[in-house]
Amino acid sequence: MAQGSVPLKSFLYTALPMRVVFGAGTAAQLGAEVERLGAKRVLVISTPGRAQMVGSLCNDLPIAGVFDQAVMHTPLDKVKEARTQAAAVNADCCVAVGGGSTIGFGKAIALTGGLPVIAVPTTYSGSEMTTLWGVSEGGAKKTGRDPKVLPRTVIYDPRLTLGLPPAVSAASGMNAMAHCVEALYAHDGNPIVSLMAEEGIRALAAALPKIAISPKDLQARTDALYGAWLAGCSISTTSVALHHKLCHVLGGLGLPHAETHAILLPHAVRYNHDAAPEAMARIRKAIGLGDAATSIYDLETKLGIPMRLADIGMKEQDIERAAQIANAAPYPNPRKVEYEPVLALLRDAYAGRRPVKRSFVE
Ligand code: NAD
Repeated sequence: MAQGSVPLKSFLYTALPMRVVFGAGTAAQLGAEVERLGAKRVLVISTPGRAQMVGSLCNDLPIAGVFDQAVMHTPLDKVKEARTQAAAVNADCCVAVGGGSTIGFGKAIALTGGLPVIAVPTTYSGSEMTTLWGVSEGGAKKTGRDPKVLPRTVIYDPRLTLGLPPAVSAASGMNAMAHCVEALYAHDGNPIVSLMAEEGIRALAAALPKIAISPKDLQARTDALYGAWLAGCSISTTSVALHHKLCHVLGGLGLPHAETHAILLPHAVRYNHDAAPEAMARIRKAIGLGDAATSIYDLETKLGIPMRLADIGMKEQDIERAAQIANAAPYPNPRKVEYEPVLALLRDAYAGRRPVKRSFVE
């Protein structure tokens, strides 16, 4: 970062084309955005739970079909149903209204059918900003990056998040913060992404405690969605590291996505602490509660997030296997990924121990 005495290094930055419509009430512009793409036959996608919201938002759209069966982890059989429906109704655009699971279905349709996607996110997953897609089959998730799946337009209307339950908001918001954290120490990071990531952490750290107390606080919801947008931008062009890889391993064991990300985050930050001092300084500055790892841990405690992997279904006998899998395939991470320290990290996260401050210089 070009800050203080740290010299600027060489970097590569790839900007992704994106159109963002942001603000309370902007969902009313959905029809105009569909028209802008020249679409005449829209396939609307949602989970069963968001069907009512979709009904009121999409009334005036040229709807060719509704697929309201989106579920977590984009399982291939459901994806095939959605793709078949898109082809059967001759859709020329997908409008995905919901969280990362729903947007994942829009991306999966775009991957094979090339349909443009308009995303209307209702959580803080950030998926709408990335070219990352994932489809699961037989317990394994296949993932990849493809510019085809990047939504053409994203409408961020914080009013749509007012009903997101506080517990889901907290975990989803910390999942977004994790994107920012990993972007700060990504081996392919760059100064623009670091600016966005730090600002994303700041916005989320300020907004999430307010949402925990008053879920209908529109200004806090607006700020959190702004942070989630920045988080999505942050991971859109940088690689993930230890934290995300561990979450992927634990996701394969059936643990819930956002909660797993939240619980592992302070421990992954502790692991990388001494190897990524610039990132840690930015995190500490953005949250302002102490050192990077403990400030994330303390923020999560304040939000009422479950703090132990044991609380969300992790079995003690799986800890060693998870550490072995995480250690098996090498990937870039600020600190070398090694079996014993990763095992210790997972044991700490399993028990929900506060990641203690060691003696270091930030
Ligand atoms: P989700 O989409 O499964 O939503 C979580 C729950 O919240 C669901 O039950 C949903 O019905 C409910 N919900 C959503 N919006 C709501 C609202 N406004 N009010 C009330 N309830 C609401 O969870 P998520 O955390 O948003 O997404 C997780 C998925 O996204 C995972 O499969 C993950 O792999 C994927 N993801 C992908 C990327 C990417 O770049 N490809 C990035 C992040 C996450």
